[in-house]
Amino acid sequence: ESLDKGLEKTKESFFGKLGKALVGKSTVDDEVLDNLEEILVASDVGINTTVKIIERIQNRVSKDKYLGTTELDSILREEVVALLSDTSDTDLKEFETPPNVKPYVIMVVGVNGVGKTTTIGKLSAQYKKAGKSVILGAADTFRAAAVDQLKLWGERVGVPVIAKGMNTDPSAVAFETVQAGVEQNADVIIIDTAGRLHTKVNLMSELTKIKRVMQKVVPDAPHDVMLVLDGSTGQNAMVQAREFTKATEVSSLAITKLDGTAKGGVVIGISDEFQIPVRYIGVGEKVEDLQVFNKKEFVDSLFK
Ligand code: GDP
Repeated sequence: ESLDKGLEKTKESFFGKLGKALVGKSTVDDEVLDNLEEILVASDVGINTTVKIIERIQNRVSKDKYLGTTELDSILREEVVALLSDTSDTDLKEFETPPNVKPYVIMVVGVNGVGKTTTIGKLSAQYKKAGKSVILGAADTFRAAAVDQLKLWGERVGVPVIAKGMNTDPSAVAFETVQAGVEQNADVIIIDTAGRLHTKVNLMSELTKIKRVMQKVVPDAPHDVMLVLDGSTGQNAMVQAREFTKATEVSSLAITKLDGTAKGGVVIGISDEFQIPVRYIGVGEKVEDLQVFNKKEFVDSLFK
């Protein structure tokens, strides 16, 4: 299915290398572990998480005294799933909202070009398919293209988009959107925000203001602050996660563009490093290519 296809490049590069590293080896020894460490780092898992994974495997080796290289695949898979369970459990099974939360307000953050607008469009389509009514707010008022693109998605999917003129206050757009969402009895309200990172203080005060203003209408909004990251940028996505988590309280992650990149390991590193659940992954351009992240399916697919 599309998850397997989307992760093809990561799989190829990872297992190609893993296979080579094991040639002529029957047991997992220090040399094998060194090679594995290199491969994990090269797959953009990130150094801290790589060290954790290697330590977990070392523990297994010293406990069992002997670990054959043929078992390394399944052991590695188990340990990665276990690591993700420690840090990245999301209760979402499908495109659903928590019970008794209506409207469910999602504020979407992330730098330009990571796939923020596309993700919002796909997400709206999936929610609609699941029978939920959706309203979008184009609070990224600094880029005409962003507003136009969101409107286009709105038309395609059949959901209303609240937009105002260029350079209007983003929090005014957010306010109107939440207000309209409440009036229209919407199930889900999604607010697109500007992705400028040029100064952290600006970003922080802007996001804080947007939150404050929407809370005048829905006191516990936003229920989710979703950070969108471009998985194909590897460690750069890690840097962005660091910046955004400093500027605001990020509650979920969407990691896009995992198709066409060998850096899929970044999903494991980011979720471990930031202890924020990965909620969605993007593995292509189609609506169905935005998928609810399931750690077991993800790891199984990597090891298929
Ligand atoms: P924004 O500036 O963050 O709003 O980014 P856009 O939503 O405009 O996306 C930038 C580009 O990335 C567009 O060409 C999208 O079609 C593309 N894109 C977004 N998500 C994915 C994905 O999961 N896979 C692929 N291959 N392309 C994607």
